Amino acid sequence: MSGSKALGGGPGGGARRRRTRCRRCQACMRTECGECHFCKDMKKFGGPGRMKQSCLLRQCTANTCGPGRR
Ligand SMILES: [Zn+2]
Ligand SMILES: [Zn+2]
Repeated sequence: MSGSKALGGGPGGGARRRRTRCRRCQACMRTECGECHFCKDMKKFGGPGRMKQSCLLRQCTANTCGPGRR
């Protein structure tokens, strides 16, 4: 057996996709609400900053193919 390791095998594997913002949709252009779950986690809003997620209202809609949307 050669020392060739195939990718994957770790728990919770999977390709991590970098989320980019289109900067064109309403979600991208709006500012953080400061009230949603993610906003409250941000350090700038007094949170621990562990989730590192963008505001719920700022989730880019251009990259997500939501079902039932055309
Ligand atoms: Zn928010
Ligand atoms: Zn967007």
